[in-house]
Amino acid sequence: MPEATGITDATDESPAEARVAAARGSRNDHTRRHNLSALLTAVHYGGPLTRAQLTRDTGLNRSTIGGLVTELAELGLVIEDAAAETGAVGRPSLIVRPRRDVVALALHPDVDALELGAVAIDGTVLARRRASVSAPPTPADAVAFAWEAAREVAAELDGPRIAGLGAAVPGLVSVDGEVVVDAPHLGWREVSFREQLAEALELPVTVGNDANMGLRAEWSFGAARGIDTVVYLNGSASGIGGAALVGGRMLRGGRGYGGEFGHMMIRSNGERCSCGRRGCLETEVNAPRLDAAAHDDAALDGYAETLALAIANLECAFDPDAVLLAGYLGGLFDVRRELVQQRVRALAFRPDAEDVAIARAALGGNRLLIGAAERAFAPLLQDPAGTPLTVAA
Ligand SMILES: [Zn+2]
Repeated sequence: MPEATGITDATDESPAEARVAAARGSRNDHTRRHNLSALLTAVHYGGPLTRAQLTRDTGLNRSTIGGLVTELAELGLVIEDAAAETGAVGRPSLIVRPRRDVVALALHPDVDALELGAVAIDGTVLARRRASVSAPPTPADAVAFAWEAAREVAAELDGPRIAGLGAAVPGLVSVDGEVVVDAPHLGWREVSFREQLAEALELPVTVGNDANMGLRAEWSFGAARGIDTVVYLNGSASGIGGAALVGGRMLRGGRGYGGEFGHMMIRSNGERCSCGRRGCLETEVNAPRLDAAAHDDAALDGYAETLALAIANLECAFDPDAVLLAGYLGGLFDVRRELVQQRVRALAFRPDAEDVAIARAALGGNRLLIGAAERAFAPLLQDPAGTPLTVAA
């Protein structure tokens, strides 16, 4: 059985380990908190579930499950009600579902807009506020927007209980989550964003890189469910964000700079990138170029070739089971699917390259909100009885 400290690490950056660790309960009484975590985690990812399914998923016996469900219900985290008829003979099974008034707030500051959402513990986006901006927002702009939008969504939801706020930032975030080291498109450097948000909103706050949170969302509820080695590329107004989940662990690198696949150099004589170098993937394939090429087949073929080259390089590095494409890269893949797959196969180093699933990410405009909320829910999932929720006035 994993130690509790291992699970702490796992819930922060290794969702797969958290799911596996939590899915196996412990039969030992003094690990009750661990078992509560196992149960809440199971309904979070897989709910609603019957007690029989919970018994199977957690390895705990039925009477233990009964006591834990009662305790989670008393904590206001789950409800249990009768399932619809399943056709089986016998009593209808009771179904355990996460309560939707338990939410996390999720904030996404980007170059063209600020967005905040309230995400229920079952991964549903319940409410959101978005403000378009004509210039990249400052950290103070983002904090002021978050404060106002949080009040509005709390009122709309009639007083939810809030686990915390997660912020998905398009830039480098220090490994401890305290400092936005460099968000070049926003123009933020060395910003203590977590502390500023926590002081203004009086909530627990976690800050992370937007691409890592996007991949985390897809792993939890989207196109990468249950796949533990995944490479993710997202094309947005802030360029190309990348992330890699390797054996269930999110790649960060030694200083948090890992996964910057948008700055993978792909053409030595290419154009100058915002990072100062030449021919980075995000300068070679970006939204303005794709818009301009919308009716130019040859140009689109060229961009698809460049994307395939990038994917082939990433396959050499990570040997992934799946490559997820999001944002404008998902759009490019949709119109050049055959070409991208064929070129990746032709360029692949590994012999069984057809086994790599290249897919479009599934969660669309909800992805970053869900991913940021996942980070905010992590402490509650890890210790349901010991993590206080904030009741919104
Ligand atoms: Zn670059």
